[in-house]
Amino acid sequence: MSTTFNTIDILTVPFINTTQEAFLSAVEDRVTTRKNTFVVTANPEIVMYAQDDAHYMSLLQNADYVTPDGIGIIKGAAILGTTLPERITGYDVLLDLLKWGNDAHRSAYFVGAKQSVIDALTPILATKYPNLNVKGIRNGYFDDFAPIAADIATKQPDMVFLAVGFPKQEQLIADYRHQNNGLWMGVGGSFDVLSGMTKRAPEFFIKHHIEWFYRLISEPTRFKRMLALPKYLRAVKKQRSKQGA
Ligand code: UDP
Repeated sequence: MSTTFNTIDILTVPFINTTQEAFLSAVEDRVTTRKNTFVVTANPEIVMYAQDDAHYMSLLQNADYVTPDGIGIIKGAAILGTTLPERITGYDVLLDLLKWGNDAHRSAYFVGAKQSVIDALTPILATKYPNLNVKGIRNGYFDDFAPIAADIATKQPDMVFLAVGFPKQEQLIADYRHQNNGLWMGVGGSFDVLSGMTKRAPEFFIKHHIEWFYRLISEPTRFKRMLALPKYLRAVKKQRSKQGA
């Protein structure tokens, strides 16, 4: 039987209300029994994007699990009166699943990021996760996903990690997930970090929940994207007044 979790709707996106540990164990069970599984790790930017794109919203609503990726989602839930136990970020989930996949001798397929990132990532995976069976690894700059999906369909990996950024990665997963009964998950810029090409924020920023601030100062071009956050908080407060919470 597959685990379902209580969810909290933030601007109609259903976030699971559980710990990272319970979530991972549910995903691992599903992978082990080869259940088709679509995971979205959603941040406020994704939630706001979905407000203006009904099709993308329906993808999120039809995913098996949407996890709270970032402090903004925890805050949003709190505004609506629900205390979510913790963030469940794409990068952390990826690391945990790779470790689990290594221990349990599972297989994985990686699509995304630049070729230079893939070149750096390949030996890192082989060294860190020697028992993980890497069935495919290729960059995320392609014109047509169909041949890649066909390769995935042939190789039937336990887990497919797609790192081409949102909304494209979720769109591709929704279109092609039926071709492989494994886990499909969009992991944004995670390959860049895992390969060492982009640094994750220092521990201090992560611990104090200001990773977004580190990203802003290290990549100022992201400023415009970050404007989604205050807009998101205003929208959540509006939802609260509508609910009369
Ligand atoms: N990317 C890709 N193909 C594309 C566009 C982007 O593989 O056509 C990669 C890009 O190299 C980067 C990732 O997708 O590794 C996007 O990272 P970002 O942090 O912007 O994504 P987010 O986490 O915000 O979804």
